[in-house]
Amino acid sequence: MRKKSVVGNWKMHTTADEARRLANAVVEGVGNDDRVSVALCPPFPYLALVGKILDGSLVALGAQNLYPEEEGAFTGEVSPTMLLDVGCKVVILGHSERRHALGESNAFINQKVRAALSAGLDVILCIGETLDQRKVNRTESVLDRQLIQGLAGLAPDALPRLAIAYEPVWAIGEGGHRATPRQAQEAHELIRNSFGKLFGEKPSLALAVLYGGSVKPESAAALLHRSGVDGALIGGASLNADQFLAIARAGIREPKTKGVAA
Ligand code: PEP
Repeated sequence: MRKKSVVGNWKMHTTADEARRLANAVVEGVGNDDRVSVALCPPFPYLALVGKILDGSLVALGAQNLYPEEEGAFTGEVSPTMLLDVGCKVVILGHSERRHALGESNAFINQKVRAALSAGLDVILCIGETLDQRKVNRTESVLDRQLIQGLAGLAPDALPRLAIAYEPVWAIGEGGHRATPRQAQEAHELIRNSFGKLFGEKPSLALAVLYGGSVKPESAAALLHRSGVDGALIGGASLNADQFLAIARAGIREPKTKGVAA
């Protein structure tokens, strides 16, 4: 069984003080318990500050986006090299909020995925269908297209540094819809099959597929213990250290008494 990963996406939330408190609480809660991989993705302005707090801990630093160029006249953008420079290990790309609110295309997301991987960052590529697409049975074709176009041209040696987050757009945030563990598992199977067709069976079996969409402490265990669910990408609940740590604990089958499992 692959080790579960729990990743906090703070989106455009927190002040510097809140970021400091949240990061310290997560580091303390995780302690030296390495049974679940934990990463935090604060907003750009707090990456360096949170990176210092995470330094030397088991909690990795991640970013929420990047621009697919090394440097240049790209006002307001942040390069993969800059993210590495402040200590990021991982970057979230293709989030539905960037696809739908900011109009990012699969082709642009693909440029970002390739730039991140070739710079040495790990990538969490988010994919997921809208409610309308699900209602007309287009879930599989949407996921396929986002994978095929988002991962075009990837070198096989980069695949171990890639994870996919299945995030049904209709289940993100406080909109009232929740995917059932069965729906999550079914979509993860579609994703793994589709990935297998693109890159072969062995990489598909090694691929980490995370689930994202209103995961809360109460729902986490049922999702995380489904076959093929390798972890969770957490939005809202990652802004509360107790809730986030409880979700991480839910990824462990045999809790012990210290660290994440306390
Ligand atoms: C997300 O946006 O990646 C996410 C999973 O958000 P939430 O947990 O708030 O639904």
